[in-house]
Amino acid sequence: MQIYWTPILKIVNEAPDTYTFQLELPDGFTWDEGAHTHFALEGFNKEDRPNRSLIRHMSISTLPREGVIGITTRVKPECSTFKSILRDMEIGEQVAIFKTHSNVPLKRAGKNVYLLSAGVGLATFRPIVLEYLENGEGVSHLHSLNVDSSANYLFEDVFTSTDTFTADFVDSRGRYHETVKTLAEDMDGLYYVVGSDDFLRETIATLCERGISREQIVLDKHDFQLDEFFTGKGENSLSS
Ligand SMILES: Cc1cc2nc3c(=O)[nH]c(=O)nc-3n(C[C@H](O)[C@H](O)[C@H](O)COP(=O)(O)OP(=O)(O)OC[C@H]3O[C@@H](n4cnc5c(N)ncnc54)[C@H](O)[C@@H]3O)c2cc1C
Repeated sequence: MQIYWTPILKIVNEAPDTYTFQLELPDGFTWDEGAHTHFALEGFNKEDRPNRSLIRHMSISTLPREGVIGITTRVKPECSTFKSILRDMEIGEQVAIFKTHSNVPLKRAGKNVYLLSAGVGLATFRPIVLEYLENGEGVSHLHSLNVDSSANYLFEDVFTSTDTFTADFVDSRGRYHETVKTLAEDMDGLYYVVGSDDFLRETIATLCERGISREQIVLDKHDFQLDEFFTGKGENSLSS
């Protein structure tokens, strides 16, 4: 496994308590749209076993052609040790990234694609939208729906409607699920979902109630994790 240590170049304040850490692009490092990585802080690999309190999964909110690795996250006043260390980091300090992989590249299957996200989950979709705006081949229409109870919506420069891309933001879960029900009238669409595990389960339930099949739902999970969300295993399963 290759670990890339790379400096923070810039910290962009996207919204209250929400920051994008722009990291220098190391030689040879690349990724596909929708990728997530392991984002780790100094000391995470000092002992025999990795110190998990210094590692988080994070999506990469940029594309390689932007020339920086973007990591977008919320750091609230009450936060984990990881986030409190991150909050105090300065330009030039190094972080580590490793095990980078995309479970959710843009599928160019001639269908409409719906990107459903909660809060900072929109970060996963930003590079997918940029990729689509650059080359829309094989995607009939792209639509994003983001729910954020703070109503401080992210990346509004990218998530602006065009002829073939539409973006919608709502500020309550109730309005979100009502809107998803309407979107799910498209029985042939592909539905990408990003957010907390509870958000995924709730969204899958709404989609499945409307007759959308498992094959049409795309999650940022490895194959071996998918059954837990679709077949009723686990404590918060759909069947319970
Ligand atoms: C594939 C994948 C991709 C992901 N991509 C991203 C991404 O791009 N961006 C992202 O932000 N996350 C992403 N995540 C989630 C990420 O890994 C973290 O789980 C998430 O950011 C929470 O971080 P944290 O555990 O450090 O908690 P925090 O963010 O610090 O806290 C989580 C919540 O608990 C509250 N809290 C924490 N500590 C306290 C305390 N002591 N007292 C009171 N309240 C407290 C916080 O206010 C906050 O509401 C991803 C996860 C996966 C699996």
